[in-house]
Amino acid sequence: MSDAPVLLVTGGSRGIGAAVSLMAAAKGWRVAVNYAANREAAEKVVAEIKAAGGDAIAVQADVGNAAEIVSMCQAVDKHFGRLDGLVNNAGIVDQPQRLDEMSVERIERMMRINVTGSILCAAEAVRRMSTKHGGRGGSIVNISSMAVKLGSPGQYVDYAASKAAIDTLTIGLAREVAMEGVRVNAIRPGIIDTDIHASGGLPDRARDMAPNIPMQRPGRAEEVADAVLYFLSPTASYTTGAIIDVSGGR
Ligand code: NAP
Repeated sequence: MSDAPVLLVTGGSRGIGAAVSLMAAAKGWRVAVNYAANREAAEKVVAEIKAAGGDAIAVQADVGNAAEIVSMCQAVDKHFGRLDGLVNNAGIVDQPQRLDEMSVERIERMMRINVTGSILCAAEAVRRMSTKHGGRGGSIVNISSMAVKLGSPGQYVDYAASKAAIDTLTIGLAREVAMEGVRVNAIRPGIIDTDIHASGGLPDRARDMAPNIPMQRPGRAEEVADAVLYFLSPTASYTTGAIIDVSGGR
């Protein structure tokens, strides 16, 4: 049986999560590719990993549902028998709205998926990886956003606030488990060319925003994945509670 490390990537079926899954597999990780609804996209990532000689599974779970997070982690336990890394990547935006137009349902969904989901996934990972729980240590990488610094006025202040919680989760959890072999870091992507903009009703957002980015172009999912893989690797062995902006200078 392989003793290669195992990585769980939430929202690993598309965009940044898919790029992380593929890059991690290429670097020797076995990968659990989580998806919410798009099974076909997740299976495509898994097939690509397997075709290159790697090992991966697709695992359905809505990270906005606590019971599904538990089942997802049990499926990873059952298939791989260990967990060494978590990339808390699954996240949503919503239609551009002013805060005073937003419904309670929208705000609660945003927080449930982006904040509660990430916290619960991190808790499951700590239960498996922390030496305090008999684990062998590991690494958690949270996907935040430059929206934390910019605030996303007129678009999605609720989203920006949800990502600010991710930054604070990163700092607090990093310090909490620093002596237990678990490192916790985060990435703040800027405008990255993925489907997320279309899901928020602005399919051309990445291209349209280019003039506002110092590098004058959106980023690629692989450019975020590179930073994630740095945090996951032993090269980052003394780095915890850190946050890297991958934003073209924005
Ligand atoms: P994306 O292209 O829209 O992909 C989203 C991924 O998350 C998909 O795999 C999707 O699964 C999954 N997902 C969505 N809701 C989920 C849920 N409730 N439970 C489990 N999985 C769920 O998004 P992306 O642009 O790659 O964004 C990934 C992360 O980066 C997010 O946290 C986002 O906030 C952050 N980010 C993105 C940008 C950007 O410009 N793209 C900038 C800053 C931060 P299905 O395929 O099943 O739908």
